[in-house]
Amino acid sequence: MKKISRHFAVYVTIILLLFAGTVFGQKSKASFSKKAQTSSEMNVFIEKLISKMTLEEKIGQMNQIAGDDAVTGPVNPSSSKGEDLRKGYIGSILNMDGAAKTRQLQKIVVEESRLGIPLIIGFDVIHGYKTIFPIPLAEAASWDLDIIQRSARIAATEASAVGICWTFAPMVDIARDARWGRIAEGAGEDPFYGAKVAKARVQGFQGNDLRSNTSIAACAKHFAGYGAAEGGLDYNSSDIPERTLREFYLPPFKAAAEAKAATFMNAFNNLNGIPATINELLVKQILKNEWNFKGFIVSDYNSIAELIAHGVAANKKDAAELAANAKCDMDMDSHSYRNELVNLVKEGKVSMAIINEAVKRILTVKYELGLFENPYKYCDETREKTALLKPESIAAARDGAKRSIVLLKNENQVLPLNKQIKNLAVIGPLADNRKEMLGCWFAKGDAKNVVTVLQGIKSAVSQNTTVYYAKGCEINAKKDENFSEALEIASKADAVVMVVGEPGEWTGEAHSLTDIGLPGNQLELIKAIHKTGKPMIVLLANGRPLTIEWLANNVPAIVETWFLGTEAGNAIADVLFGDYNPSGKLTVSFPYNVGQEPLYYNHQNSGRPKKGDQLDIYRINYMDSPTEALYPFGFGLSYTSFNYSNIKLDKPQMSMNDKIRVSVNITNTGKVAGEEVVQLYLHDVVATVSRPVKELKGFKKISLQPGEMKEVNFDISVEDLKYYNHKMKWSTDPGEFQLFIGGNSRDLLQTSFMLTEK
Ligand code: BGC
Repeated sequence: MKKISRHFAVYVTIILLLFAGTVFGQKSKASFSKKAQTSSEMNVFIEKLISKMTLEEKIGQMNQIAGDDAVTGPVNPSSSKGEDLRKGYIGSILNMDGAAKTRQLQKIVVEESRLGIPLIIGFDVIHGYKTIFPIPLAEAASWDLDIIQRSARIAATEASAVGICWTFAPMVDIARDARWGRIAEGAGEDPFYGAKVAKARVQGFQGNDLRSNTSIAACAKHFAGYGAAEGGLDYNSSDIPERTLREFYLPPFKAAAEAKAATFMNAFNNLNGIPATINELLVKQILKNEWNFKGFIVSDYNSIAELIAHGVAANKKDAAELAANAKCDMDMDSHSYRNELVNLVKEGKVSMAIINEAVKRILTVKYELGLFENPYKYCDETREKTALLKPESIAAARDGAKRSIVLLKNENQVLPLNKQIKNLAVIGPLADNRKEMLGCWFAKGDAKNVVTVLQGIKSAVSQNTTVYYAKGCEINAKKDENFSEALEIASKADAVVMVVGEPGEWTGEAHSLTDIGLPGNQLELIKAIHKTGKPMIVLLANGRPLTIEWLANNVPAIVETWFLGTEAGNAIADVLFGDYNPSGKLTVSFPYNVGQEPLYYNHQNSGRPKKGDQLDIYRINYMDSPTEALYPFGFGLSYTSFNYSNIKLDKPQMSMNDKIRVSVNITNTGKVAGEEVVQLYLHDVVATVSRPVKELKGFKKISLQPGEMKEVNFDISVEDLKYYNHKMKWSTDPGEFQLFIGGNSRDLLQTSFMLTEK
């Protein structure tokens, strides 16, 4: 998590306040018979409950306040938390965990408030709770939806044992700009892939049945357009035309809604001038109307009050009116609903229908979680003792981490290293670092449980190997540092592994950068070691694409290891020594220069597209930089090589209600077994609006033994060819489609087919 600060004094005061007057042993007044489980029974139960609620109690359900176990936004003092809980004026708490602690709060609400409606307790469980998995951007690079779903499942199993009913994840924002720190929290730049990952993560958190003890409610965030913050500057405005919004930014949200994510969260940004929290196109029209979403939407932290700074509300009363009428169901900690909605309803500015709808949505999620049946289902101290950091969870973290690693360069097969190597130097500020391996938003991940790269390497090498270590420099030290120790160990070594990158906390919320090169003088350190002429491997630990052109041109091996979590060091050693053959592929484009950002593969062609490598002045070119990516979307190497051949279609054309099948042969032409992510891209050659040069429309991850060949097939239907046309109609038109298949978005086999009317 970005900041953890325990305000014990505040917490103790609240608990004391809560305990005063508690009468233990009373039953929840809103509890219901275990038999009442069909949706009509649920509706009857909820309607009946709503009919008993006062206006203040209803608004209470729409009010979420912050606890003190994590600080993830401005601290808004609320003097009356304890009293409000007893009155039923608080429906949800965020940033609070621990089975005993949450049980105490739940008990107050259930036993002392008039109607006994349980709280829904939320926490940012983003890539693990205690067992920390790779940051989401890293895990996305596995292109393995099963491991993505599995890590969310394990995170939910841990979180559900410590009082957490609801995670503020997955973040499904499309991110095209490496300057934006929150790029680390999502699945990258592609809507098709982002949608698959969104679904996997929702299903992982929620399991097969929300009512299960290990399921927690998911929250698709931040709705919407947050990743398009101008200049990559977090919280900044986004300007996104509706076609781009619907085709690029919304598909992962739609997939989350279809996967029945219980909740959504508004975004902080204004979208085309209207803050997302009150953007009626987004919430009223698209989410609740077109997608028929039945869960509830919570504001982002304090985002209702921030409507004032956005300049669309004069005060909190205005802000509450706007947000409620835009159908934001729950106020995250701005207290605007708590303090203003009663009067707004009395004055007729917010209708009872709006309030009732919001309350119904919130109570429905509580019901579906099984909270009315057993308000204490998440507060199980016995389970809490055994659920965290289980050996099988740690094994899954290692497995997921090794699959997230992307091999960017491996000249002359420097990698994998031989475990019998005599002398190995491990150098760099991130080589023996525990904390940074956790990345951003690491919930209750503990640095002490992290395996460092140095440790991972030491436990992998043979007994005859000597491993030397030198930090070399700090991550972000600007001063000239003395590299002598690092140089000395490099001179003794047969190979050097350098571990460089950015601090974990430079990614995530509020961490935007204008320089995405290696911080401090890490590049100087690398250059100094490079001069020794020793075989050299650079491991990058980071949460965003970095500008690494010098490395790409000079060092023989580069491995993108992101922030891999608890088992980082072991997973990295698995790849370094060839116990696992890397198979990860980037889901974000790596630029040459920060000036290329935002950079994404699925851009439009322009009227003057580039021709080959020529610098032709009247074409789309930077004068001082390539326009394309250094490492493109979908890119990643293996210790083996794959050959793509024989791309064929089952017919030259397809009609509007038909399908076409494309097949391709992939052969493992190297000496070791490996996995490959086979990617399919399409391009609509002539359409009513300019179409992206390529769009991912399918992928399959396959394994091949040395010399083995497999045929991979994809079926393309008309739905895959549709887009929002010049009249904003979701449709397609006859004509030529180019089709590309390959191992990344740049190096592709190509064919084409015709779409015909009949
Ligand atoms: C972030 C959300 C997060 C919330 C609660 C906000 O600042 O934007 O992503 O879920 O805080 O911690």
